[in-house]
Amino acid sequence: MAKTALITGASRGIGAAIARRLAKDGFQIAVNCLDERNRDEQGLAVAEECRALGVQAECFIADVSSHEQCRQMVEAVKAQFGSLDALVNNAGITADGLMVRMKEDQYDKVIAVNQKSVFNMMKFAGALMMRQRSGRIVNISSVAGVFGNAGQVNYSASKAAIIGMTKTAAKELGPRGITVNAVAPGFIKSDMTDVLSDELKQKILAQISLGTFGEIEDVANAAAFLCSDQARYITGQVLVVNGGLMM
Ligand code: NAP
Repeated sequence: MAKTALITGASRGIGAAIARRLAKDGFQIAVNCLDERNRDEQGLAVAEECRALGVQAECFIADVSSHEQCRQMVEAVKAQFGSLDALVNNAGITADGLMVRMKEDQYDKVIAVNQKSVFNMMKFAGALMMRQRSGRIVNISSVAGVFGNAGQVNYSASKAAIIGMTKTAAKELGPRGITVNAVAPGFIKSDMTDVLSDELKQKILAQISLGTFGEIEDVANAAAFLCSDQARYITGQVLVVNGGLMM
């Protein structure tokens, strides 16, 4: 029976690239979209691209910061595809600003979408995978969570927390044959980084050993490896994909 992968925030950017890459690897794909608009404008096209690669693919609407919506989504994926074999927690946002000026809701929103979502999804998908006695979980962190980044106290807190949660979940779920790892991208070309000023982009570029920004496919390849059989003995690890930005 074909395996099933659920990717959160898969309507565009890195999430969409992971969906396409896992489809290429033969997974049936559950494309998570935030809402109906997001599904109709972008998610359906991603699911269609996956189907063109010869696998089943459907969109599932859920705001991953909602505990209840995550529970319902995992249930719906199981009902649609019969199993859930790989979960990639990719959905994320930024709301940058210097710490001393940051509004409380600016902090809370980023923590809810980037961090609590990972708890929500690992809890419900993890319970299902424990019953299956197998599974792969990949959480998308960031170099900001490993090294910190001025102007991103909310974002770096959420991404550092994801690393701690990855290691805890790896310990809890390992005995049931489930691996849990994180990928920490550096600067990847996407809508998220497109908004940064050219001046800042040049500053970052100067620090990248390989001399170029990453592509969304670079992150997708790392996530796909961690979802594959080749990674069966790797768990609780952080795979940094940053072209040598930080070492
Ligand atoms: P992106 O282009 O902004 O895409 C983010 C995706 O997350 C979108 O599909 C978005 O949906 C979805 N999303 C946002 N809030 C959501 C919610 N509450 N529920 C469900 N989906 C939600 O960002 P990206 O660059 O692809 O980043 C993907 C992940 O990689 C994020 O976790 C990000 O923090 C991480 N990352 C990115 C970089 C980088 O350089 N790009 C570096 C390190 C880490 P909508 O289309 O509806 O907004």
